[in-house]
Formats: sequence, C-alpha cells, structure tokens
Amino acid sequence: MSNILEVNGLTTQFETKNGPLTVVDDVHFSLKKGEVLGIVGESGCGKSVTSLSILQLLDKHGKVSSGEVLYKNTNLVSKTEKEMRKIRGKEISMIFQDPMTSLNPVLTIGTQIGEVIEKHEKIKGTQVKQKVVELLNLVGIPRANEIFHEYPHRLSGGMKQRVMIAMAIACKPTMLIADEPTTALDVTIQAQILDLLRSLKEDLEMSILLITHDLGVVAEMCDRVVVMYAGQVVETTDTRTLLRNPRHPYTVGLIQSTPHQSKGERRLKSIVGQVPTPDEYSPGCRFVDRCPQAMDICRSTVPPLLEIEGQTACRCWLYERKEEVI
Ligand code: SF4
Ligand code: MG
Repeated sequence: MSNILEVNGLTTQFETKNGPLTVVDDVHFSLKKGEVLGIVGESGCGKSVTSLSILQLLDKHGKVSSGEVLYKNTNLVSKTEKEMRKIRGKEISMIFQDPMTSLNPVLTIGTQIGEVIEKHEKIKGTQVKQKVVELLNLVGIPRANEIFHEYPHRLSGGMKQRVMIAMAIACKPTMLIADEPTTALDVTIQAQILDLLRSLKEDLEMSILLITHDLGVVAEMCDRVVVMYAGQVVETTDTRTLLRNPRHPYTVGLIQSTPHQSKGERRLKSIVGQVPTPDEYSPGCRFVDRCPQAMDICRSTVPPLLEIEGQTACRCWLYERKEEVI
C-alpha cells in the first residue's frame, strides 16, 4: 500500500512569555491508502496539536518549526493559506470531539452542509439541496428533508456528530482526521458513530487518522497505532501487537488502565502522576517520573526510538540493544 500521508520530524512550537515551548517534538509516522491509523495518548500528549499542524490550523501562537507533512508527496508545511483552503475539506477533512464548536448555531443544517459543497464544487440551488439530502441519508439521519431546515440545537449529540461527518465527507476527501469523534457521546451512540465511520471508510475508500485516548476505540477501528507521550512518539506498531504485546511502559500503563470486557474482574490500575508540561520535561525520558521500570540512564539521557522487530518501534532504554531507526 502506498502512503497518503508522511509526517517526518514534525516539530510544533508555541510562543509563550517565557520563550517557545515545543509541544510536538520530532514526530514521524505515515498513513497508507485505506488505512485507519490511531494516535493514542492521554490529553496533553500533543495528539490534537499534531493534527492541527497537519492542516495548518494552529492558532496564531503556534507554528511548525521544523519537519515536513507530505500529502500525496507535496509538503503541506510550505503551502500558503489560500492553497490550504483548497486542500481542507476537499482532500483532507476533519471532525472534532464537540460538534457544537464547529456547527454554527444560527444557520440551518442544510445551509451549513450546502456551504461546504458550494465552496469546492460548481453547483447551485436545487442540485446542492439534493446533494445535502443524499449526504444526510448517507450518514443515517432520518427524515433528511425535514432535518435540512432544522437548526443544530434541535438535534441530539449523536445526530450533530452525524451532521459533522456529513460536512466532512461532502466532497469525498481522500483522508479524514477524526479527533476524539465519540468522546462526547453516550456509549451506544459511540458504537453507532464508529460503525458509520467504518462503513464510510469502505464506501469512500478514505484513509483515517483517528485521534483518541480510548484503547477500546483503537481495538475497534485501527489497523496501526502511534502512541504519543509528552509530545513524542513512544511506540508505533500494529493494533494487534499493541494490545497483546505492548512494549513501552506507558503503553502497558494505558492498557492496564482500560476496562477490558474479557478480563472484567481484574482491578484497573491507573498510571500514577500526570503528563508533564513542556517546561517540566526531564533531560532524559519524559515518562521517567511515572515509570515503574525507570533506571539511572532514564533520568539523564533521552531514549531514541528503537526498532524492536518488523513494524514495531519503541522509545525506551529497556530495548537499547536493538537497532536505532530514527
Ligand atoms: Fe521507563 Fe526508562 Fe523506558 Fe523511560 S526509558 S519508559 S523511564 S524504562
Ligand atoms: Mg485533544
């Protein structure tokens, strides 16, 4: 499979009173055609900033300071805002955790989805309406002709997320970035939205970058996974290996703190402490203060991302005898 997206050495900094803070630090990963790649980690690990960096949607204090984002072999980092506007929505779309932050409360559903279509396609009037209704049907919204005229506040959370998905796929993008798409929803609705994303991925042959803190969602959806901790990639592997044989002590901690249906009686162990902020990073491994296996070297020296075997790479001194990949 060929790569749709290659992120090479992506580093994103935010300007603060005390100088620049590096929030995403030398991140590498690739997304293949038709693949679902998960980016996993607790909040504050740099997952969302990574996706905003890809689409150049950082606020005015943030900036990609080095690295490249190759989409179909062109570097998005060097594109102008005007060029990016043609890519967003048409080539790469994004859905967020909270649909209300992205839906405009004073415009009807039909107007909002129609605007996305008109931005990228040369159609008007009844043709746009017809396309909006088709999209509402496609994302499983009942009574599409009535919902077309409704305002967002009249819809449930799950329905709003379906509207967001309709907007995101309106121009049949090659790639979808879904940032915690089900986190704000009830469990049963979560499952429906994941089912919808899965079937749309198949029908539209999309590649999906799925950002989540939930390993249950990863198990359901992802082919491969990138685990991020404190702005860095700490483990990359396929989903099956990640869940059965996690290597990085952080990944092990995430799995032990996730409810697991087949092992329902086991006590959940949470990871002690919190993700450090960039000004609190240790000069060695950033996980050192929370790691049950920390050694002396971990406090002083940054562990490199080491290849373990095949597709698996891990940033941890426990695996130091293996070959360095990056
Ligand atoms: Fe733990 Fe050391 Fe590995 Fe970091 S490098 S995860 S502190 S064992
Ligand atoms: Mg986030």
